[in-house]
Amino acid sequence: MDTANRDRKKAWEQQQRKLSQDAFPIADSLLESMFEAMDEKVEAAGCDHTLRFTKSWIAEKDQSAAEVLAWLREHGGFCDCEVLANAADHWEQNR
Ligand SMILES: [Zn+2]
Repeated sequence: MDTANRDRKKAWEQQQRKLSQDAFPIADSLLESMFEAMDEKVEAAGCDHTLRFTKSWIAEKDQSAAEVLAWLREHGGFCDCEVLANAADHWEQNR
């Protein structure tokens, strides 16, 4: 790949990352604390194939459940452990 191509690829990647960041439903610091909380909960109690911990966290922090859950689903977070396995991964790579 020549330099111009590499630069274009890099620019495209940065743009994609920016788009992903713009689509984050809540602040980065809140996402961080949400994923940390899920990590502890799932570690301690396991996943029951629902979003129970995620939903209670959202309610506790008074965030928009519709927006956060839609974003999580879009990135493969259909239950608490998938939130950690998939959505957290997407967030780590784009934050
Ligand atoms: Zn699960």
